[in-house]
Amino acid sequence: IACTLVCYCRKYSSNSRRHSHQIQFPAAPNIELDERSAPLPFQLLQPIGNGRFGSVWKALYNNETVAVKALSLHHKLSWQNERDIHLLDSTPHENILKFISSESRGRGSSSEYFIITEYLPLGSLHQFLRHNTLSWEQAWNIMYSIASGITHLHSNSYYNSNGLLLEKYSIAHRDIKPSNILVKSVSGHCVVADLGLAFILDPAADDRKLAVSGQVGTYRYMSPEALDARVNLRDIESFKQIDMYALSLVLWEVCMRYQSDDVPVPPYQSPFFDMVGEKPTLEQMKEIVVNANKRPGFTGVWYSDKNLKRIIKLIKEGWDEDPEARLTAANIKIQLESLIGMRPKLDSLSSPLSPPPEGEGVFL
Ligand code: ADP
Ligand code: MG
Ligand code: MG
Repeated sequence: IACTLVCYCRKYSSNSRRHSHQIQFPAAPNIELDERSAPLPFQLLQPIGNGRFGSVWKALYNNETVAVKALSLHHKLSWQNERDIHLLDSTPHENILKFISSESRGRGSSSEYFIITEYLPLGSLHQFLRHNTLSWEQAWNIMYSIASGITHLHSNSYYNSNGLLLEKYSIAHRDIKPSNILVKSVSGHCVVADLGLAFILDPAADDRKLAVSGQVGTYRYMSPEALDARVNLRDIESFKQIDMYALSLVLWEVCMRYQSDDVPVPPYQSPFFDMVGEKPTLEQMKEIVVNANKRPGFTGVWYSDKNLKRIIKLIKEGWDEDPEARLTAANIKIQLESLIGMRPKLDSLSSPLSPPPEGEGVFL
């Protein structure tokens, strides 16, 4: 597979620019029948999370601690999608969860599917924000690393470790939210995870394939045009703009946990929690985000703190009701870089940091 994939990342040159040729998708690995009953190559140790589709375990694989997401037959498509996207975008990026391998076992309704990735003991950003307040450095690192991960997904080229610019497919994540972002270090470096709903933005794909791909994700983080099913499915940029809306909500959530001087930090709250509570329906979200054009609010500290003040504009531009007015992920990176002078020294932490309690899982 590794050899095959090298072909997908060809050298970027003026005569092999995108649109001028088609990149072939890798064929699904052909799992031999006897492999279906072979023992699994990992040992599950303890559950570490529950998502929408699967249960996630800390596990041992080749003497290494890894994370294993287990999915049932019902979620085979999500497994296939997550695996294929990781294989397609196989060059490691520091802000994308590192994929190790995939497995499937059993037949028929008893089939089970597994995604093996690096294990990150600090867990999801959702858990991290619930349990910690943030210094400005941590908040900045979290925001910058998520924007970097999404920039990489959205981009159609990247630099490899030898400094060569290579071509790749643009990918929309389509389920950006704190439970799909994992925290890599206490200083706030994060990776974008859970590519189960991600979508390859192939300019050569026919409209029909794109057309069935509009309204997915998590209602709370769904953009107005996705809630209202009026996404311009013919334009691949639309899918990136949907991610940018969700990213803006996440940036708001991160900044809400920033500890500015002695101003008390309110307990963690999801965006729109005050308006729709725990598990909003599509109709509820449509009512507030589309009909009433509401967005999360900015408390007094946003205007009095010099760091937060500069983030307000960036967040508001990201969740604009007009998808085309939204900043791109690369713009967000540039704007955050312009705040770098305000960035405190690395590793100065303002609050004690704790990993999430073992086995804490959330369904979000
Ligand atoms: P789903 O596709 O079912 O939503 P996710 O990939 O989002 O599953 O994972 C669900 C939860 O499991 C995450 O929110 C996180 O708490 C935990 N988790 C997932 N992958 C890892 C990992 N590699 N390291 C640590 N925790 C993880
Ligand atoms: Mg998830
Ligand atoms: Mg998923």
